[in-house]
Amino acid sequence: MKKAARDLCVFKTPAVKAGFILISILAVDFMVLFAGGTEFAFTHLMYIPIILSAFFFGIKGAIVAALLAGISLGPWMPVNVKLGVMQSSGGWALRTAIFVLTGTVLGDLMRQIRINMETRLQRSWINEDTGLPNIKKLKMDIDDRIRKREEFSLVVVRITNLDHINRYVDYRVGEKAVFKVIGSLESLMGRNVYSVFPNEVAVILPGYGLERAYAAARKFQESFQKPVVIGKLPVSLITKCGISNYPLHGGDPVDLFKTMGRTLDQDRFDGQGIAVYDDSVSRKNKEKYETLIALYEALKNDEFTLVYQPIFDLNSNKIAGAEALLRWENSRNMNTAEFIQIAEDAGIIGEITKWVLENVICQLKKWQEQGVKIKASINLSPRDLKSDVILRHTENSMQTVEAGRNMLDYELTERVLIENISEVEELLRRIRAAGSKILLDDFGTGYNSLIQLIRLPIDCVKVDKAFIDHIDKESCRILIQEIISTAHQLGKEVIAEGVETEEQMLLLKKMKCDQIQGYYFSKPLRPEEFREFCVSFDLLNV
Ligand code: C2E
Ligand code: MG
Ligand code: MG
Repeated sequence: MKKAARDLCVFKTPAVKAGFILISILAVDFMVLFAGGTEFAFTHLMYIPIILSAFFFGIKGAIVAALLAGISLGPWMPVNVKLGVMQSSGGWALRTAIFVLTGTVLGDLMRQIRINMETRLQRSWINEDTGLPNIKKLKMDIDDRIRKREEFSLVVVRITNLDHINRYVDYRVGEKAVFKVIGSLESLMGRNVYSVFPNEVAVILPGYGLERAYAAARKFQESFQKPVVIGKLPVSLITKCGISNYPLHGGDPVDLFKTMGRTLDQDRFDGQGIAVYDDSVSRKNKEKYETLIALYEALKNDEFTLVYQPIFDLNSNKIAGAEALLRWENSRNMNTAEFIQIAEDAGIIGEITKWVLENVICQLKKWQEQGVKIKASINLSPRDLKSDVILRHTENSMQTVEAGRNMLDYELTERVLIENISEVEELLRRIRAAGSKILLDDFGTGYNSLIQLIRLPIDCVKVDKAFIDHIDKESCRILIQEIISTAHQLGKEVIAEGVETEEQMLLLKKMKCDQIQGYYFSKPLRPEEFREFCVSFDLLNV
């Protein structure tokens, strides 16, 4: 907006400004002449070019304009044109003197205003705590260098434990720690240091390529390997450096500024705690963002479908149920686990789970009407367990479609750490009381398998495919056998996931695994295919 206003402004060059002032003076002269002479009020209009001149050119400009204005209204300008009465020299000289005085005062006033504004502007570029230029100034300086096409590297330093120091040691120690970092940067990399955030400083290294900048950052990191003494207190500062370079990492000032800021967030630090900007990470983040938008659209436009993978019971030789798995046509070459992860990170997984839930319940009802009475399990994300929304939604949906109870189970992945374990425990008990079973999915791939098995009200353990893949190895067989026996002793059933061969199936049967799921028995099927599969399977097993 401001820029647009600036573009519209016609007074772009000093010559145009001076020209306008001269024309204004002449215009006033003509007006005075046509109005009948200086005894009429139009001489006061001469203050306009004087004010403009003070504004454009300061004191000197205002004085020159005032002299020109005074002289142009001088000896040849009649007091009264009609009567042919001319001015006295004292009269026009006095007027000229008043114009000059006014111009001087106005010019000085403008100068004061300018200085004031300048000081304010300068202040808005300074970080009050450190006295260093701030992020605004950093952005301007980066823009400036890019405009001049000067190569530079930017090192951004974050003190990752500053918050901790402020909170648990003393904020004054924290303040001094920031100055230690600034001091070290200034001595190693020069004076172009900026305060970006309370725990972040940046330094522009003019003419530095990536390698040189990396070497400087390494020296800086080394200087903080040992605790630094702050007020007799040894304090360990944990610092991380992110490095980016112009022109290597882009030429658009806006993009480059964002790029540079992101280096520290890419979490790709080497052993020295230094990360060099990597555009592939940014590209991935952009893709993630686009996928997220597309996921919202998919929910709105009903682009999701469900497939059902049969689960086979090794004891009864029957189909024990099915796992509902989400599919998205427009998944941009991403597999289900990948787009589910994006939905989880963005916090829209709850909406997806609701969609899955409603559709599975409808499908179960449809199959029931077609004579196929089968159970299905759906996958829950740990985020779904933060409230009882899903439980309430299940109850409502069940009522609407009047599907039988005990037909819907829930799979809870073991890969992710459950933070609020007591609340989850309570919620799972309520889900079970409502007639559903809880299956612990991907068992063995997380880092808290056993404790979850003991603490949470689990009915069934799904041994992850990673174990089944190596079932031909004795050590893996021992482990699987242990999992099966332990689960059985704890009164839980076991499903083996990802069973692909007859050999694997036979070994699992020997180990008394209860059920299997995998390509050996069937791939995930579309609803109609699944119904046909169940019908033909039943016929074969009569
Ligand atoms: P999961 O729950 O462990 O599902 C099993 C995955 O293994 C499925 O992949 C299935 O197609 C695949 N699979 C089954 N048998 C075999 C086999 O014999 N060989 C091989 N190579 N793979 C087999 P899918 O459908 O791509 O799903 C991947 C993961 O995405 C799921 O793992 C689950 O964690 C998640 N997921 C899928 N649908 C949903 C959903 O509706 N909600 C949530 N929150 N997560 C879901
Ligand atoms: Mg699952
Ligand atoms: Mg699994």
